[in-house]
Amino acid sequence: MHELGIVFYVVDEIEKVAKEKGATKVLGATLELGEVSSVIPSYFMELWEWTIKKHEMLVDCKLDLVTMKAISYCTECKKTYGTVEFGKTCPNCGSVKTYLVTGNQINLKNIKV
Ligand SMILES: [Zn+2]
Repeated sequence: MHELGIVFYVVDEIEKVAKEKGATKVLGATLELGEVSSVIPSYFMELWEWTIKKHEMLVDCKLDLVTMKAISYCTECKKTYGTVEFGKTCPNCGSVKTYLVTGNQINLKNIKV
């Protein structure tokens, strides 16, 4: 049910932005999904289609999902690397003193009204 909460959040955000713009209809939106955000895109889209039917403003809204690469940073060698490929271990020096810089967030990029 993780995805459903995010769908509701995104719907709220889009409606808020649309109202600020004085729009009555939203035609499209772009959502950035981090690679390690734990959202399954196909499942997310299914819930999205189901949810927007109940929101008059969004019935025609086409959602584009854009995947954002997950990047980790190594505090030992001060380099970044792809999190999905290497996990918590730095491929440059083998250190595990690494942390995720980007890739677990969900951003509403833009909306078309
Ligand atoms: Zn390193």
